[in-house]
Amino acid sequence: MRQVPYFVPDIGEAEIDEVVETLRSGWLTTGPRAQRFEREFADYVGARHAVATSSGTAALQLALDAAGVGPGHEVIVPAMTFAATASVVFHAGARPVVVDCRPDTLNLDVERAEAAITPRTRALLPVHFAGHPVEIERFQALARAHGLALIEDAAHAASARWRDRPVGSLGPLTCFSLYANKTITSGEGGVLTTDDEGLARRARLMGGFGINRSPRRGPDEGAWYYEIEAIGWKFNLPDLAAAVAIHQLRRAEEFLRRRQHCAALYGKGLADVPELQLPCEAPEIRHAWHLYVIQLHLDRLRIGRQGFIERLAELGVGTGVHYIPLHLHPYYRDTEGYRPESCPVASAAYPRLVSLPIHPRMGDADIEHVIDAVRQVIARNRR
Ligand SMILES: *Cc1c(COP(=O)(O)O)cnc(C)c1O
Repeated sequence: MRQVPYFVPDIGEAEIDEVVETLRSGWLTTGPRAQRFEREFADYVGARHAVATSSGTAALQLALDAAGVGPGHEVIVPAMTFAATASVVFHAGARPVVVDCRPDTLNLDVERAEAAITPRTRALLPVHFAGHPVEIERFQALARAHGLALIEDAAHAASARWRDRPVGSLGPLTCFSLYANKTITSGEGGVLTTDDEGLARRARLMGGFGINRSPRRGPDEGAWYYEIEAIGWKFNLPDLAAAVAIHQLRRAEEFLRRRQHCAALYGKGLADVPELQLPCEAPEIRHAWHLYVIQLHLDRLRIGRQGFIERLAELGVGTGVHYIPLHLHPYYRDTEGYRPESCPVASAAYPRLVSLPIHPRMGDADIEHVIDAVRQVIARNRR
């Protein structure tokens, strides 16, 4: 039987050759390839500066630091996201405030975000969930009105656009991930983009131990001389990883077209299944389609989400669940005092969520196989 894995990275010969050349070059850590990747990534998303990092999480940590988030501050984060979006806030010494999502896009609900603002709120940290950009203009207006920083978690959203403007050029601080299962990857890696020279400098400084490598040098100080200006982290992207990222980036639009094709076929092939709610796509955006999240109408089915996932696995279809909302995790429940009712929309969506495979290695026959399998499982388990 045909097997359609949930995700397979598309690594080409160019990526492999570049890694081999990097190994032969003798320069393995951050160097010319990381620099080239930063330039090309900044061009791709229309930002003045791109700072390559060891992970998307590292990019978020640097963004919080650059935005001045620290002890005593609160940062508004969405319930429907991965652990990293909020854990960096704790590491900054601040507190994430978990806010509910919209039922359609599952993106952070801007009205609920506004209601959660307190005098301690320092930043808004929305996630472009699944690759569907948030209503950026409303978040910008909210940030302006309350004097807050706006940091975008764009881990899903490389290639996404809001009204023809690429994510990465919209706000002051945008964080991307190059993790193995993201739309373009270097295995591990991330990028912070900004138009602000000062923020870019701060991110570079803090991602490199807080060390200034080009300080004013005295007569007895040579190229070896450096100065510790602040206490930073080690968040650099090595050239070995940048070698992969450079070629992934050059294929980003090709990858996107293939995911768009996949989403379009799913849309056509599953639109008439009343037991499913398909992902939505606002007219003013370009979706990055990192995830294709369907929601089951459980009241119309004789199986639950896990039964659905198991039946699909028997038919060779891999799936995922994105995400277990933050507020339902033990730490947030036991230490932070969240309850399912804290974020009712995310709590209600969670048991219904299933992510279908969507990646550039899927051919039409794979996509048709997933559609057939989903239809079959639903047909056999209708109420
Ligand atoms: C993947 C991901 C991250 C973290 O990125 P890493 O590169 O794995 O550190 C952050 N936020 C979201 C929403 C993600 O999906």
